[in-house]
Amino acid sequence: MTQAQIIDGKAFAAGLRARIAEDVAKLKALHRIQPGLAVVLVGEDPASQIYVKSKGEQTEAAGMRSQTFILPSTTSQTDLLHLVSKLNNDPDTHGILVQLPLPAHLDPAPIIAAIHPDKDVDGLTVTNAGRLASGLPGLVSCTPAGCLMLIKDALGDLTGKTAVVVGRSNLMGKPMAQLLLQADCTVTIAHSRTRDLPAVCRQADILVAAAGRAEMVRGDWIKPGAVVIDVGITRLPARDPEKAAAGKTRIVGDVAFDEALQVAGWITPVPGGVGPMTIACLLNNTLIAARRLSGIEG
Ligand code: NAP
Repeated sequence: MTQAQIIDGKAFAAGLRARIAEDVAKLKALHRIQPGLAVVLVGEDPASQIYVKSKGEQTEAAGMRSQTFILPSTTSQTDLLHLVSKLNNDPDTHGILVQLPLPAHLDPAPIIAAIHPDKDVDGLTVTNAGRLASGLPGLVSCTPAGCLMLIKDALGDLTGKTAVVVGRSNLMGKPMAQLLLQADCTVTIAHSRTRDLPAVCRQADILVAAAGRAEMVRGDWIKPGAVVIDVGITRLPARDPEKAAAGKTRIVGDVAFDEALQVAGWITPVPGGVGPMTIACLLNNTLIAARRLSGIEG
């Protein structure tokens, strides 16, 4: 039996970033507009710090204006809302992203709700969720948008395909399902209460696993030839006991990769699959936002 094709998300994301950089250069040359992304980080969460640094570097590499606001963990709700309001009113800021999770004393819902929907490059506001569900132009959550690009690159036209999305979060599962529905798939959303999850998954021509459960999806859950998109990220101790004892870790997805490789038609690895698409799609959303806010489409 032939093995699945491994979807190289890192290479795809690099290509997308290069296309974005070309479009940014054109926007500057033709319209004197430089897309600007503001990222707000509250506190010292080490994983968020690395992620925010990477976002800033990639934003600048694409020729965009990058602003990073690093606020102390003691920042009040009022001060954070004040900054969001300032950025909403700044004509040079086209995208605003407040890095989650926020420290426990801050309530994320009103902060997200305060972001102007047309600058909400994370696609998290209720307005953008509603636009997506209604088929209206808006800003779509970055990870599902990236997954859809990878799926379309593998399969081309998705019309009539059966898609199963495991996970129903506002960030990932729900927008993923909406995007697949818009692409004319027949979509099932599975979650922790789904009965006989393996049987549901086995129906999928397109299986998107976004549950955050390490290697839950086994080889015999997969329909032969299916596209398997593994969104999950779980950090486990390194396989080598000595390295594990030294505190070294490894990252695994929601899919038992070696088993799935024998059955699927296409599969994303973890790391190197979906992950790199997220920041690339954030840049894409910032470019889209800059064009729309400036009245330029296309
Ligand atoms: P989340 O908010 O925790 O949602 C997880 C979803 O999975 C929930 O809907 C939950 O169902 C469902 N679920 C949990 N256990 C399950 C099980 N045993 N069987 C079936 N469904 C189950 O997580 P998220 O934010 O959507 O993220 C999901 C995963 O993707 C995480 O590992 C996260 O780190 C990763 N992620 C990766 C990227 C990336 O860039 N690669 C971006 C975003 C997220 P209920 O609703 O019933 O509880």
